[in-house]
Amino acid sequence: MIADKSALIVTPGQARTLARWAECARLAYNWALSEWARQYTDHRAGVGAWDDPDTPQPTPSAYRIVRIFTALRRANRLPSWASETLALTRNRALIDVDRAWRNFFEGRAGRPRPKRRTARPTFYLHNQTLTVSGRLMHVSRLGTVRLARQPRYPQHRIVSATVTYHDGRWHVAIVRDLVRQRRAAPGGALGVAVGTQTHATVSDGSRWTADTLTAAERRTLTRLQRAVSRRMDAAGAGRTVRRRQVWDRATHHLTDAHGSANYRRAVERLRRYRQRVTRRIAADRHAWTRTMAARAAVVGLEQRSARRRMRGGGADTRALNRAIGEAGWHELRRQLAYKLAEHGGQVVTVDPGETTRACSACGARSGPPDREGAGPRWTCSTCGADHDRDVNAARNIERLTARALARQDRPGALANGTAAGAGTE
Ligand SMILES: [Zn+2]
Repeated sequence: MIADKSALIVTPGQARTLARWAECARLAYNWALSEWARQYTDHRAGVGAWDDPDTPQPTPSAYRIVRIFTALRRANRLPSWASETLALTRNRALIDVDRAWRNFFEGRAGRPRPKRRTARPTFYLHNQTLTVSGRLMHVSRLGTVRLARQPRYPQHRIVSATVTYHDGRWHVAIVRDLVRQRRAAPGGALGVAVGTQTHATVSDGSRWTADTLTAAERRTLTRLQRAVSRRMDAAGAGRTVRRRQVWDRATHHLTDAHGSANYRRAVERLRRYRQRVTRRIAADRHAWTRTMAARAAVVGLEQRSARRRMRGGGADTRALNRAIGEAGWHELRRQLAYKLAEHGGQVVTVDPGETTRACSACGARSGPPDREGAGPRWTCSTCGADHDRDVNAARNIERLTARALARQDRPGALANGTAAGAGTE
């Protein structure tokens, strides 16, 4: 099974329908939650069944929940939300309750609770209610929706889909019947010296400089941020706590309940722009980690200990830098780990202690004590080798990685064992 995710390009009318379906699914879930509890209580008390008073109430089940829901709905004894979404979508919400209670009773999860109005809007689509062709997704009673991204694995059968609203957009995750093929692992290990979180040097001498905010983007962000503050002051909304969220008719998005329509539009513009920039920067990082996974079976990284903060820019720029920078090393490692694992490779983290100081040619401790403070080049006083500071570090990381792997392969070695500062994961 593989989930292929894409944002949806929807008309305002479709956005309203999606929001309504998510709300109907939520209400169906909450209805089923109390119905399940009622059936359970009646069952324990030995009360007669609702639809057949002569027989005792059986234990609650997904089947009985759906059956009673359908009976009540046909008898017009449920509010209008009960008929507003697709039957297969609504039934799934009802069935989810049964599963949630079972998980609770079997100790796998906490007690199921009603879904609050502020919960992330989401609903399920049965494969009988959707088809995908090219970048178009057709959904019963909704019509045709464009996918922001070309769907992957189009030849594989669709099992189901989940529609979710987050980050200001509707998304779909299409689950397909597919076991990911393991490609043959490309040979060899590479070491990567991550300088700041926005650039990296590889032991084969190649470099990667991450996309960052351009000056123009910084200016646009500042301008949009100012527009929000101005309208916030005008609306007197500055002090309001951002708790209650509503579906905004002006923007068709889930938004804070306070402020004027102008204020909310300004917030929406800022949010969208910020998202666009973040996506562009994220795409660049994904591309680099993908090429790394294609070039090596194992990638070595230095263990990152101290957190370094990036400075400069306004509050908004700083927030973005945090998102792309500080989380950067962990995100790089995460992406490399799962992309390498797709063909049986792995990430190895090594002790950064000597990676800068040691000469990768002769092993002497002749280099600068710390990479950030030193110049870009240095010459080994022992063997005379001329080094690029970062390439030298990357080569040392590669050597430590190979050593950690050899240790790992030795019979009797612990899987994921850590030895002499070199941990593998
Ligand atoms: Zn040397």
